[in-house]
Amino acid sequence: MDSTPVSKNFIQHIIDKDLENNVYGQRVHTRFPPEPNGYLHIGHAKSICLNFGLKEQYNGLCNLRFDDTNPTKEEVEYVESIEEDVKWLGFQWDALFYASDYFEQLYDYAEAIIKKGKAYVCDLCPEEIREYRGTLTEPGKDSPYRNRSIEENLDLFRRMRSGEFEEGSKVLRAKIDMASPNLNMRDPVMYRILYAHHHRTGDDWCIYPMYDYAHPISDAIENITHSICTVEFEDHRPLYDWFLQILEFPAPPKQVEFARLELTHTVMSKRKLRKLVEDGIVDSWDDPRMPTISGLRRRGYTPSAIREFCDRIGVAKSRSEVDVALLEFCIREDLKLKEPRIMAVLDPLKVVITNYPEGEVEYLEVENNQENLEMGTRQVPFSREIYIEREDFMEDPPKKFFRLSPGNEVRLKNAYFIKCEEVIKDETTGEIIELRCTYDPETKSGSGFTGRKVKGTLHWVSAEHAVKAEVRLYDYLFLENEVEDDNKEMTFNEDSLQVLKECYIEPSVKGAVPGSRYQFFRHGYFCTDIKESKEDHLVFNRIVSLRSSYN
Ligand code: ATP
Ligand code: MG
Repeated sequence: MDSTPVSKNFIQHIIDKDLENNVYGQRVHTRFPPEPNGYLHIGHAKSICLNFGLKEQYNGLCNLRFDDTNPTKEEVEYVESIEEDVKWLGFQWDALFYASDYFEQLYDYAEAIIKKGKAYVCDLCPEEIREYRGTLTEPGKDSPYRNRSIEENLDLFRRMRSGEFEEGSKVLRAKIDMASPNLNMRDPVMYRILYAHHHRTGDDWCIYPMYDYAHPISDAIENITHSICTVEFEDHRPLYDWFLQILEFPAPPKQVEFARLELTHTVMSKRKLRKLVEDGIVDSWDDPRMPTISGLRRRGYTPSAIREFCDRIGVAKSRSEVDVALLEFCIREDLKLKEPRIMAVLDPLKVVITNYPEGEVEYLEVENNQENLEMGTRQVPFSREIYIEREDFMEDPPKKFFRLSPGNEVRLKNAYFIKCEEVIKDETTGEIIELRCTYDPETKSGSGFTGRKVKGTLHWVSAEHAVKAEVRLYDYLFLENEVEDDNKEMTFNEDSLQVLKECYIEPSVKGAVPGSRYQFFRHGYFCTDIKESKEDHLVFNRIVSLRSSYN
């Protein structure tokens, strides 16, 4: 695996400098800290590749830590899916922790901060706290509870823990500076009262730490050196440092921020993705249209394509939107030389070759992948009745239509020239139901025939031998670029899923196990659905079409 970057990103420069100055000795220790309140998405993959990538590049360590301080939104289902997704991407954590493992320690540290006179119990209600906080242009006001004695604060905090007070009636706040230009430093809340069942600690606790308090301390407890997060947390860094300094951690971890991944045609917040599931816009978190890791997996994406994508987009501090076409480019490149190229007819029109002997079957030897001859060959049956793509025939073609039309000759890929002699229609509807053609035995592919040329080549399958299958074609869930504006209604593409129930695929797919990938000529890359494809009812998802607009 080649993970050595050509040029280093800014985070690697920071780490190099810290190594040079022995800030953490020669240690590099990162963590990936998802909140188990949803499934991971491609944005998380960027963070995973970054954190686990640094571990690999510096021969360091990387933890997986569930940031489970929000009991009302978290579930075991999410924990399991996150572990599965990280492993599937090809990474292994050195240790697995939960922020909830530290609830007791976090509590003790909070008492220590109170004892230093740097935290107090405040009885203002949430609205009042907001009001007292001030704005970007006006300083805040001190809470009337700010000067409680250390003894009173300790007593009240202990009673908060033992469940004496109502939810929302009290909080523990850090005593910093109500006039700080940084709103996060205006006496932020450290603990709130919440009578909620936690997926791991059950009903042990009725006070829960806030992210801004729990995160730096969890990092410090785990001896993390570089705590990498997205730029929205840049303003929280002074607070991150404040807690670690007050508690006098030696060599405290360093928070480093990078720009989150944003993709065209894609929403990426878990809140919005959950809404898509809950509103039934998609079937599930792993619907192949979802930008979740599990959705991409089901769609047919490979871990290596996703990792390559994360490599290519790089790591920077400034915001930028990545074209989803780059992700598509990466999967095409990954599959190009690996998967067999076969023939599949998605919208079948029957063709009878009238001068081909009835009952005869010929096996044509065909390369599995013309760009990778090491993949060998296979035998493709040819017979008197075949299917071609309905759109490959026109009864009354415009100029420059080089496919099949009455009297016109085309090549059947890997087989013969055929000429359309007769069009059979349904008597009542007028719909074309069959074509009668003749073939020229002299024109067999590979025979060296040079007598005349045709302009069109069509893919086809032998009707008797083809495997009938279901094919699902996907389009973007969002036509317009969806701005990650929380107040904006999401506008969906109504045609993001097209299900084709009667497709015919050459017999080499018979018995394909779930997760098998192919290139279908002209149509793109496909993968048998890992949930719903069965041996007697194959279901193919289109991963990506063959061409894109990406340069
Ligand atoms: P969301 O808004 O989707 O819920 P989050 O940041 O709240 O995202 P977490 O589970 O808390 O989700 O994130 C775990 C880690 O993944 C964090 O370090 C976070 O910075 C990172 N992360 C989340 N979304 C992205 C993204 N779009 N690009 C890069 N990193 C991301
Ligand atoms: Mg979050």
